[in-house]
Amino acid sequence: GNEEAAAKAAAEIADTGAPTIFDKIIAKEIPSTIVYEDDKVLAFRDVNPQAPVHILVIPKIRDGLTQLGKAEPRHAEVLGHLLFAAKLVAEKEGIVDGFRVVINNGPEACQSVYHLHLHVLGGRQLKWPPG
Ligand code: AMP
Repeated sequence: GNEEAAAKAAAEIADTGAPTIFDKIIAKEIPSTIVYEDDKVLAFRDVNPQAPVHILVIPKIRDGLTQLGKAEPRHAEVLGHLLFAAKLVAEKEGIVDGFRVVINNGPEACQSVYHLHLHVLGGRQLKWPPG
């Protein structure tokens, strides 16, 4: 059935440590709409937006941080930097009074790109619980 197919599709997207499409975005080999950038992080619009504002915030150097569940003590600083960048992005986009930050971790959470990223979502009334 549908659920079985979805589970299979998710299982095929695994954390292999291989390069991801985000490397090409960082290298500017494929286009993206960048909304914020500093020495450590890059923020760009999601190609398949789930809200009027949907931005991804990623570390420029992955350093093993394929997913939050793989974080090590050395990643604590960049994790804080990413979260603060999410707030700057929300301000820049005019949604700082109502927005959501999401990290999908692993197949069961529908993670599809294994380069850690924060989703910053807003610009509409968001529902709870998420799907
Ligand atoms: P996740 O499912 O949490 O791993 O999120 C990955 C996100 O990356 C999805 O929301 C995709 O729409 C988005 N995405 C994939 N490829 C691109 C791309 N080339 N430019 C912008 N966003 C992308």
